Amino acid sequence: MMKDIATPARTKEILNKYGFSFKKSLGQNFLIDTNVLRNIVDAASVSEKTGVIEVGPGIGALTEQLAKRAKKVVSFEIDQRLLPVLDETLAPYDNVTIIHSDVLKANIHEAIKENFQDVDDIMVVANLPYYVTTPILMKLLEEHLPIRGIVVMIQAEVADRIAAKPGTKDYGALSIAAQYFAEAERVLTVPATVFVPQPRVDSAVLRLTIRKEPAVNVSDESYFFQVFHACFANRRKTILNNLVHNLGPKERKPEIEEALDEAGIDPKRRGETLSLEEFAALSESLLKRFP
Ligand code: SAM
Repeated sequence: MMKDIATPARTKEILNKYGFSFKKSLGQNFLIDTNVLRNIVDAASVSEKTGVIEVGPGIGALTEQLAKRAKKVVSFEIDQRLLPVLDETLAPYDNVTIIHSDVLKANIHEAIKENFQDVDDIMVVANLPYYVTTPILMKLLEEHLPIRGIVVMIQAEVADRIAAKPGTKDYGALSIAAQYFAEAERVLTVPATVFVPQPRVDSAVLRLTIRKEPAVNVSDESYFFQVFHACFANRRKTILNNLVHNLGPKERKPEIEEALDEAGIDPKRRGETLSLEEFAALSESLLKRFP
């Protein structure tokens, strides 16, 4: 039996064989701890009927653990140099498809249609490249993919921001954007020692469970997003000031004050104190005045 890819010895052997040098610009920090990988797969509740989408397989450490448990794994990798490596390391698994693509440009709906006709559920599971965590997560959420959830290793600080509750220092536009689509929880804390090379930041595993319906009902999703982003443009400013300066050219102060009043929100409050429901009510009353 071949040793798991995610051991320090096997990883070193593979990297040496291919003369592989890490690209910092691609967020390449590979996992070398099989226990951590198993915990990630457990956190995603992957079964033999699950289809898994992975972002950034690297040399296949997580892909291998997913392939052992899932029905099928489809992995997007941007770095061409890793393709021959993955060919070799994942040769024992016939349920893995590697797609050479920048995940941000990939048609994930299409990949799901082509590969996951016969699965019961679909999960995204990844050790994400930290330099593009937010754009990747927002793409996965905003495209309304038919997925049950997302389990990802990310920078601990970003995991805290995504899962933050109103009234805390971490709560902001990213918390609202993610929690609109999904329930968010930080499920594992991971030391830097389980990666090569070791990242300089703390890492954590975040689980997003996609909601059947978004957390709040809004008539115009993109306007709702503009409204809460405007409210956090300057964290020290009041909601009223942020809306007046950052919402849009047609949105004027008297009507904004009226809209805040109608939504029952004190104009002197700061964005970080508003719940999703309050942002939704505010977005609706602004939209009435600025259609
Ligand atoms: N899954 C492997 C592991 O856990 O050991 C590697 C994870 S490493 C943190 C991130 C991986 O994502 C690298 O293989 C990197 O080349 C790849 N990557 C970076 N940017 C990407 C992008 N935009 N699209 C797809 N893959 C990307």
